Amino acid sequence: MMDYGKLLGAHGLDALLISTPANVRYLSGFTAPKDGQVIVGQSGAILLTDGRYTVQAQQESRLPVRIAGREERPQVYAGLLGGRIGFEAAGLTYAQLETLRQQAPGEWVPTYGLIEQYRVRKSPEEIGHIRAAAQLADRALAHILPFLKPGAREIDIALELEFFLRKNGSEGVAFDTAVVSGPRTAMPHGSPSQRVLGPGDLVTLDFGAVIGGYCSDMTRTVGIGAVSQELKRMYRAVLEAQERALEAVGPGRIGKELDALARQVLEEKGYGPYFSHGLGHGVGLLIHEAPGLNKISEDTLEPGMVITIEPGVYIPDVGGVRIEDLVLVTEGGYEVLSQAPKGWLEL
Ligand code: ZN
Ligand code: ZN
Repeated sequence: MMDYGKLLGAHGLDALLISTPANVRYLSGFTAPKDGQVIVGQSGAILLTDGRYTVQAQQESRLPVRIAGREERPQVYAGLLGGRIGFEAAGLTYAQLETLRQQAPGEWVPTYGLIEQYRVRKSPEEIGHIRAAAQLADRALAHILPFLKPGAREIDIALELEFFLRKNGSEGVAFDTAVVSGPRTAMPHGSPSQRVLGPGDLVTLDFGAVIGGYCSDMTRTVGIGAVSQELKRMYRAVLEAQERALEAVGPGRIGKELDALARQVLEEKGYGPYFSHGLGHGVGLLIHEAPGLNKISEDTLEPGMVITIEPGVYIPDVGGVRIEDLVLVTEGGYEVLSQAPKGWLEL
């Protein structure tokens, strides 16, 4: 468990206000973290929330719970916060900070990534949730493939996919489901539209489940009917780039090194200018978190990190391909958590 005294001491703080939902959830286990805060003081940490959550917070929180509505808040803050008070720079609006300054006089000090540094390496329990989310997404992909046929609309495919996820235990969707087809596959993260699938189309599906608050993330691109040689060539290039980077995953590898491996494959095949985003990102309570895998990332991989490997090629008016796996960094290398097949598939 977190050593709160050490955390405060390391940053010369007397108290710390945690208000970023993912960090509130990480520290407390409270599943409505948007309506909660964690206050860390010399005597430990508490979860602060309001009367709507009296029962739920007591059931879920690992930390002692303090219930206080809008009227009681000034008193709570004044009582618990003083001296050098750390706050999360990314977790408060300017207006919220101004109000807090009035309620709890002290030296308010912005902090960056204090809790995030603990979240980067996942515990076995966290990995269990992510693994379960990835397995559910694999099942969802198998479920949706028969729906991918000429005449089907992107939006109906996306809804069927999300319905399956929710019916089978996903706590929501990890992010807005992307389903794009035909020339729309040139949009790396397009929203599903009314467009109807036709023969020769590529279809890209990017989606994730949520289990125990933890996300999964996977992309597959498949073909409908007779797909052109040009698009199939693009697919093979992306798959080769994806596998090149994936096979290199392991402790000690740097984000930009892995990005360069995939980028090099695509550059050699003439697709360099069309790989318009980074190779991947960390996944956990948030769909995008540390470490980064991109052209400039100096992040070093460590066992217990969960990342994506997702190169893509997007050519305007032609189409695009992305193949994304969810990957656990292990002591000896890596384990792929997304197990759906990724060889060329023409439906
Ligand atoms: Zn994705
Ligand atoms: Zn992703």
